[in-house]
Amino acid sequence: MLVTDRTSEASRWSARMRGAGLSVGLVPTMGALHEGHRSLIRAARRECDRVAVSIFVNPTQFDQSEDLDASSRDSEGDVAICRQEMVDLVFLGGDSGEDAVYRPGHQTAVRVEQLSEPLCGRFRPAHFGGVATVVTLLFGILRPHRSYFGLKDYQQARLIESLAADLYTGVEVRTLPTVREADGLALSSRNARLSTEDRDRARALSSALFEAREAFRGGEDRPSTLRDLVRGRLEAAEGVELQYVEALDALTLQEPTGGSVRGCEDGVVLAVAAHVGGTRLIDNVWLRPGDEIEPLPSSGG
Ligand code: AMP
Repeated sequence: MLVTDRTSEASRWSARMRGAGLSVGLVPTMGALHEGHRSLIRAARRECDRVAVSIFVNPTQFDQSEDLDASSRDSEGDVAICRQEMVDLVFLGGDSGEDAVYRPGHQTAVRVEQLSEPLCGRFRPAHFGGVATVVTLLFGILRPHRSYFGLKDYQQARLIESLAADLYTGVEVRTLPTVREADGLALSSRNARLSTEDRDRARALSSALFEAREAFRGGEDRPSTLRDLVRGRLEAAEGVELQYVEALDALTLQEPTGGSVRGCEDGVVLAVAAHVGGTRLIDNVWLRPGDEIEPLPSSGG
């Protein structure tokens, strides 16, 4: 396994693989790797000849008031996990200097228009521009055939699918279901910041979403009713400060046409963001026509 923090070396590695006729899969991460990241790496392992993992806490996707929390990350632990998962390249992007992800004098920003606006975009104005820019840079550096993203960050996944297609990157974007704790809480590096009490309270997010999913499976087809069910549960939950709950067309992230889940070709995403003990958490479930007959596995996002 090659571990490098040099952009030029990562590019050369990838060019060698492609030159040898091998397919390259990329899993972009910000480190603090957990089972959610491992599921992406394993999918890449199954589908590609070579697997690259990038570990880079991208400064441009954090608004000024936000805590980057890069200092608590354990890059040795992350590299060890990559080794266990038989990763071929770990690219630890440095953020300054000649051979860094953002080269000196970096000028370019990428913006995915409509998909950046709703949901988290309303509360984190710089976030998706930073994500789109760094993913474009990583695609340019590593030129992967496929790249892997979790539906835990549903809006991000949709935005990157659009970016990859719009910019003719040639990268096939693959998305995978949310990996959860046994009690439903979506895995996130942020969960480590929760006190025991807050960890317990955080369960309210997935419980509310699952309850709405059951209501949908039971025949409730109005996105606004499903959204209000989640809102009611989370407004009543102790220690949970709701930021938003929305039910949007799963493809366009616009208000669902016709006011029904079944009226949307790809169904509806029911998404929430909330603060629990000062930590901002997000979660979602994707409600698709047909799901009400064939239940999703409990790990389904
Ligand atoms: P991050 O390191 O938080 O930027 O996440 C890197 C990738 O892992 C993103 O594509 C996330 O959507 C994905 N990811 C994070 N948490 C989970 C999870 N619980 N299940 C599946 N994918 C996840």
